[in-house]
Amino acid sequence: MSAPQKPQAGPDGGAPAAGVPERPLPVPDAATAPYWEAARAHRLVMPKCVDCGAFHFYPRTLCPHCSSARLEWTACSGRGEVYSFTVVHRAPSPAFAADVPYVVATVKLAEGPHLMTRITGCAPEAVRIGMAVRVAFIEASAEITLPVFAPAEEA
Ligand SMILES: [Zn+2]
Repeated sequence: MSAPQKPQAGPDGGAPAAGVPERPLPVPDAATAPYWEAARAHRLVMPKCVDCGAFHFYPRTLCPHCSSARLEWTACSGRGEVYSFTVVHRAPSPAFAADVPYVVATVKLAEGPHLMTRITGCAPEAVRIGMAVRVAFIEASAEITLPVFAPAEEA
């Protein structure tokens, strides 16, 4: 895996520090390309079943609720809550060292699906299970924009 990689933004959107390896990014495939295309446009989409109306995630070829093959990528509200989380203090590779401590969380979307993501926009110690969050987008490279979640404004 030594293919040349394009320049990549650091965690704050700036250039990565000299000598820091580039972080691994998702590689879209046929099953996930619509998700990543929407994320580049700052839209969060999930597969929704035309027959039973339920959302699911990760993408599958059949609805996990009713086995229908009639699925459509559908925009979500971007609202959800923290289902579970952990605070990462030891980076899994030098590429993430500048980010620690950071929060990796499972967010339960208002539409039902759960997804693994990061919580940004607040101190790690402020994150709580059940905390209301909304989607935000980090442009990690020219091709990949990552959906992350930040605390939702109190209504
Ligand atoms: Zn279904």
